[in-house]
Amino acid sequence: MSTNPENLTVARVAIDLALDRTFDYLLPPEWRDELGIGSQVQVPFGNSRRHGFILDLSAESARPALKPILGPVPNRIRLPEKLIELGRWIADYYLCTQEQAIRALLPGAVRSGRIRPGMERFCRLGEREAAERYLLEHADDARAAGRLRVLKQLLVAAELPYETLLAEANATPAMLATLEKHGLLIQEKRRRDRALFPEGAVLRSEPLPPTPEQAAALAIFDELLESSDPSRVLLLHGVTNSGKTEVYLQAIARTLERGQGAIMLVPEIALTPQTVRRFRARFGDELSVLHSQLTDAERFDQWDRIRRGESRIVIGARSALFAPLARPGLIIVDEEHESTYKQTEAPRYHARDVAVMRGRLEGAVVILGSATPAAETSYNVECGKYRLAEMRSKVENRLDPVIRVVDQRLAGPPEPGKSNYFSRILIEAVHDRLRRGEQSILFLNRRGYARVMLCDHCGFEARCPDCAVTYTYSRQRQTLACHLCGNVIAAPVVCPQCGAPDIRYAGVGTEKIEAAAMALFREARVGRMDSDTMRHPADYERVLDQFRRGELDILIGTQMIAKGLHFPNVTLVGLVNADLGLAMPDFRAPERVFQLITQVAGRAGRGDLRGEVIIQTRNPDNETIQFAARQDFAGFRQFDLEIRKLLNYPPYSHLIAVHFRGPEEAAVLARASRLVEELRPYCHEGIQLTGPEPAPIERIKGKFRYLVLLRGSALRQARRRLRELLLHDHRTDSDVEVYADVDALALL
Ligand code: ADP
Ligand code: ZN
Repeated sequence: MSTNPENLTVARVAIDLALDRTFDYLLPPEWRDELGIGSQVQVPFGNSRRHGFILDLSAESARPALKPILGPVPNRIRLPEKLIELGRWIADYYLCTQEQAIRALLPGAVRSGRIRPGMERFCRLGEREAAERYLLEHADDARAAGRLRVLKQLLVAAELPYETLLAEANATPAMLATLEKHGLLIQEKRRRDRALFPEGAVLRSEPLPPTPEQAAALAIFDELLESSDPSRVLLLHGVTNSGKTEVYLQAIARTLERGQGAIMLVPEIALTPQTVRRFRARFGDELSVLHSQLTDAERFDQWDRIRRGESRIVIGARSALFAPLARPGLIIVDEEHESTYKQTEAPRYHARDVAVMRGRLEGAVVILGSATPAAETSYNVECGKYRLAEMRSKVENRLDPVIRVVDQRLAGPPEPGKSNYFSRILIEAVHDRLRRGEQSILFLNRRGYARVMLCDHCGFEARCPDCAVTYTYSRQRQTLACHLCGNVIAAPVVCPQCGAPDIRYAGVGTEKIEAAAMALFREARVGRMDSDTMRHPADYERVLDQFRRGELDILIGTQMIAKGLHFPNVTLVGLVNADLGLAMPDFRAPERVFQLITQVAGRAGRGDLRGEVIIQTRNPDNETIQFAARQDFAGFRQFDLEIRKLLNYPPYSHLIAVHFRGPEEAAVLARASRLVEELRPYCHEGIQLTGPEPAPIERIKGKFRYLVLLRGSALRQARRRLRELLLHDHRTDSDVEVYADVDALALL
């Protein structure tokens, strides 16, 4: 063991190779002031030179003859120490390598080390008298004409950007260089942030006098801000238009007054120009917005601006959570129930949960806002871990829409060659709108990736008797399988409930619905919007604009149109197939359907006209649909939590899904089985280890997929073992890919 006499001269560096280990390097004296924990550095590695991050400093190393760090990367990135700590937690909790966690913390543009701060060259006059003298002396010198033009420009403007000066004076760089040599012109490089807010200034707005409900919420916030509890989380449960955003704005203002910064996460789709304008109106240019359309250079500048403390408020989608604010005092997660907060690539973190963890590490208050809070969040309120503020009344007294549930079975089986996607009631309602010149939205719930066996006639769904989830249908094998417990039965050819011969698996697309609507409503102008037709944000905007301008009567779409759009002339929303969501093989299906119906209902009647919502279903008595139709969130949540408790699902247990995939089924299965055997000794009583099972989508792109599920309330030990297995033992074999999804939201 070599011990260095001077303290902390060994740097533990995580190298960008996803090895989940650090390497020791010597921190040379000349870099000791500048480099520390969080610095991105260049190090020699084998015969090459690589980038890495210093995760730790130490006084000694177990290895002899350490190589020295070569220096910082060119743009001198340094992550705040708290973020390094957060990254460590992510790697540990979400079972990924430290490098993967660090990658999540940093925009690629920043991590690459290639982008430098935006710089602009400015020119100003040297000594004024000298310039004037030069002008006089060279007045008749034709060769100096260009130089004279430059000086004249500068005499008027005092200072100009380099490029502007060249253009305005019709000058060449050589002319400027000559003037500089004579001391008549001075060049300066200055920092310039790229594209802050190209759309220009915004009128300032003042805080609104809070309503009683807002005041109550802010009082709890103030209390949390003053408290020294390590965990300070507030659930702001308020219906749409109850004034949640105004509460966010005022909470942020109070945080700034204390000299701290704030981060607000919103789902990407909600990061609209309106939202940004509202925040800019309150906070001006202290705001940074991180959205997916930024160029690398813009992203870099925003990141660096935040790190330098020039903007203390950050709004953005998921990854804004890792904004390098030095002292965040508040982290807001708006629409905290949104599943888009769960990252689908490694590290598969949930931004809401990481926000709570960052809040704890930084001593910041966390506000989770939603009209339909997630079960996990409601549960944490119930347990007394989170505080609760409820906002039940709308600020502007808008009428709630009328919600009707329509039994689609009454429509009978479809005649050959015809569709019966629309009930008579829905058809009539649309005709009504067409006559009155109002607009309709027909909404298709298409989270139907999984195949579900469904009877068109009686509404029967094939379900596992042991698990209360739907069976997954395999066409290839003609089986129904439960991916939770492993039950497998032969797929029926007639409906086991009513004997109808046309039992089939569900799967209706927006395309078919559009064709059916066009056939039914011949005079109507119909538009369609879904992720298949919308490849570019521009397509999306175009259809929305058409609809907004009233050039379309009916808009057909999927989840995409359920969120946050304002259309005052829409008075009817039809949810064509509410069942498809319910039939998903997933214990979260009822929650999603409730959220969806709530969101969809929010689209109807946002102007002065009262809206109507028609929910078509083959299960009109289904509890979720009933609760949603009454908009009884408390009732639904209690019902949903009771079932989850009974079946030991989250939030009553933790759930880790381990995915296996590869080109050869036998190899995938063998690998999964081996992992189960290796893991079993670490699963004490109370932990359920199930599988391997074919995943609900059994094959993607020619790769077979298997699932192993780990469920229990105390998973610590099993998780630690699983982490070792995944990141060390199981990484050598390249034929089968293995990864874990901790707190999995979807089991597909
Ligand atoms: P939410 O975020 O819950 O949907 P908002 O904060 O956007 O609600 O508020 C809805 C509307 O009510 C907005 O137009 C907002 O300007 C207005 N509003 C919010 N709070 C107040 C208040 N205290 N006084 C007057 N108007 C308010
Ligand atoms: Zn089962």
